[in-house]
Amino acid sequence: MKFRNKSLHPILKSLAICVLALAVLPGYAQQAPPQPQPHGINVANMDRSVKPGDNWYLYCNGDWIKNTQLPPDRARISVFSTLADISDKQTASLIEDVAKSKGAGGSGQQKIADLYNSYMDEAAIEARGLSPIEPQLKAIAAIGDKKTLAYALGQTLRADVDALNNTNFHTSHLFGLWVAPGFNDSEHYAAYLLQGGVQLPDREYYLSGNEHMKEVRTKYQTHVSTMLKLAGFTDTDARADRIIALEHAIAEKHLSLAENDDVHKANNTWTQADFSTKAPGLDWTEYFRGAGLTRQTSFIVWQPTAFAGESALVESTPLDTWKDWMAYHLLEEYGPFLPSAIADERYAFFGKELQGAPQQRPRWQRAVVIVNRQLGDDVGQLYAQRYFPPESKAQAQQMVANIIAAFRKRIDALSWMDPKTKAEAQAKLTTLYVGIGYPETWIDYSDYLVKPDDIFGNIWRGNLFQYDRQVGRLGKPVDRHEWSMDPQTVNAVNLPLQNALNFPAAILQPPFFDAQAPAAHNYGAIGSVIGHEISHTFDNEGSAFDSKGQLRNWWTPSDLDHFEAAAAKLAAQYDAYAPFPDLHLNGKQTLAENIADVAGIAASYDGYRASLKGKTAPAQEGFAGDQQFFIAFGQNYATKTRDASLRQQVMVDPHSPGEYRADTVRNIDAWYSAFDVQPGQTLYLAPDERVRIW
Ligand SMILES: [Zn+2]
Repeated sequence: MKFRNKSLHPILKSLAICVLALAVLPGYAQQAPPQPQPHGINVANMDRSVKPGDNWYLYCNGDWIKNTQLPPDRARISVFSTLADISDKQTASLIEDVAKSKGAGGSGQQKIADLYNSYMDEAAIEARGLSPIEPQLKAIAAIGDKKTLAYALGQTLRADVDALNNTNFHTSHLFGLWVAPGFNDSEHYAAYLLQGGVQLPDREYYLSGNEHMKEVRTKYQTHVSTMLKLAGFTDTDARADRIIALEHAIAEKHLSLAENDDVHKANNTWTQADFSTKAPGLDWTEYFRGAGLTRQTSFIVWQPTAFAGESALVESTPLDTWKDWMAYHLLEEYGPFLPSAIADERYAFFGKELQGAPQQRPRWQRAVVIVNRQLGDDVGQLYAQRYFPPESKAQAQQMVANIIAAFRKRIDALSWMDPKTKAEAQAKLTTLYVGIGYPETWIDYSDYLVKPDDIFGNIWRGNLFQYDRQVGRLGKPVDRHEWSMDPQTVNAVNLPLQNALNFPAAILQPPFFDAQAPAAHNYGAIGSVIGHEISHTFDNEGSAFDSKGQLRNWWTPSDLDHFEAAAAKLAAQYDAYAPFPDLHLNGKQTLAENIADVAGIAASYDGYRASLKGKTAPAQEGFAGDQQFFIAFGQNYATKTRDASLRQQVMVDPHSPGEYRADTVRNIDAWYSAFDVQPGQTLYLAPDERVRIW
C-alpha cells in the first residue's frame, strides 16, 4: 500500500495522471518567488485564531489555505504536490542536460532524450494525424468472429494493475495482469489477474443513483461519441450508447473497492483449463494465446465473479459492440499521443469534467511524467546521484531504526496479543527490508526501442516492454529487495508480499525531512509516514502475510477479534466525516490507511520521545517539542482540492482526504495534553472513544 494516491484516475498508460499533482513550476511559468522554507514547522501557514480542538486542520493550515490559489491546471494541490513539483523540476533539469549531451545510440541517456523530444514535438504529432493508430483500428475492424475477438482481447493484456503495492485496481482493458510473489509460494513470482473493462474510475460511476453521477454519465455519452467522431467513425451516438451499455454491464459484475481489499477472497488459484468451466463465454485458449501466456499453467484470479460475468458478456454481446468498445478504448489509451483535437477532448472529459481542473499542465511537465513512467529507473539513477546525499540516507536510516524500536516495544506491551502472535510480529520486524532513497539494482531497458520521432510507437513499445518484462519473471525466484517506486517519486510504499518498504529519495526532502530541522518536526512529518508504512506490516492486510511474505494468518482468533473491534470503531469514526452533505467517507474503504495513520503517528511519537534521551526539546516560536511534533503532522496534509476531484477521491481512493488524515491526532492522548483539548470541543473524544490499534 502506498502512502497516498497521486492519480485518482489510475490509468497510468494515459496522461490522466497528469491532471492531479503539481503546481506550475518556478522558471517554467510566471509565478511568485517561492517562500523560504523554515527549518521546522511553518508557523506562517497556521491559523491561530482557530482552537486546535475545534478544527485542527485549519489550526495547522488555515492561512496556507486562505493564501493559496489553485492554478487552472490543477485539480488539487498539497504539500506533496508542491514537493513533487520540485522533484519534477529537478527531473526536468536532468532530462534537459541529457537531451543536450546526446548519449550514444541505444544508451539510457539517448532513450530519455528521444522519448522526451518525441512527445514535445507537437508539430510532428499534428502532421502525422491519425496514421500511427490506423493499423490498430484496421486490425480491430477486421475481426470477423468471437474467436478472433478473444485473441485480440488477449493481445491487449498489459501489466497495468497492482493489487497490493501501488494499489491500482483500474484497467480499461478487459483484464489486467499483476506479477508479484505468490500468495501460496512467496518465493516465486505468480500471475494475478484482475477485473477491468471500464473507462470511468470505478463501478460506482456507472451504478450510483447520486445526481452528480447521473450528470457525469450524460456528459460521458457526449464524450464517447465525440471521440469516435474525431477518429472518423459514423453513427457515433448509437455506437456510444452501445459501448456505454456494455461498460455498464461490466461494472455490474465488478467487485467494489472495499471488497477488493480482502486478500483471502482474492486467493483463487485457477489452472488455465479452469477458466472455460468457471468463467464460460470467452474463448480462453485464444485469449491466452493472444496474451502470450499459453505456457502459464496457473493464475490467481482476484475477482472470480467478475471474470465469470465479463466472460459471459463476451458471448452475449454482439461482436460489433465489442469491436466499437475496443476501438474506443484504444483511442482513450493513446489519445494523449495523437493530434490535439483528440488529446484535448480527452482532457476535457477526464481532466476538466471528472477532476475539475480547467487547464492541462504545461507540456514539458507531462513529458516528464511520461519519461518517468517509461524509463523510471534510468532517470531515477541520475536523480539519486544528484539529489540524495549519503548523509540524508544515514539520518533517515537512524529514524527508521528508532521507529522500528518503538513498534517493538508497543507490541511487547500489548496485553491482548497472544505470545505466539507477538513472536511472529517481531520476526516480521526482523526480516523487514527498508529501502531508503533508491533501489539496490536498476531495471535494464536494453530491449526497449525508443525512436526520436515516434511518440505513439514509443509508448506502444514501452507498454509492451513492461508487459514482457513482467511475464518473463513468472515462476522465477523473488527478489525481496526489488523496488516498486521510482527514487524521484514523492511517496512511500509497503510491499506486503516482500515484507519490504520503499522510501524514495524525493520524499526525503523538506518539508518532510530536513537535516537542519528539529527532531520534533522530522518525526511529526516524515516519521509518521515511516510509521504509517511499518504499520501496514501488521494491519488488516499485513496480518495476512507472515515474516516471509506468505499468505498465512498468524493471528489467533482472539487477537483478530480484538483487532477487528478496534478497527470497527475507527471505521465508524471515519464514516461520520462528510465533505459534502450528500457524500460521507467510506470507513471500510479507507480503513487500512486510517489504521496506518493512527499507528504511524503513535509509533513515531514514541520514536521522537526516545530520540530526546530525556532532554527537553527546544521550542520553536513558542511551540514546545510535542506541539511541533503534532503541528508538523497536521501540516503534512494541507490540501486544496476542487469539488469534482474531492468527490472522486472519496469514491475511489483508499486514503481519506487530507483534512481527515490530519484529524488522526484525536486518537492520541499526548495531543490532548499538548494543546489542552477539552470536552465539548468538536474533535474531542473521551479516552475510551480514542482508537488504539497497537
Ligand atoms: Zn498506506
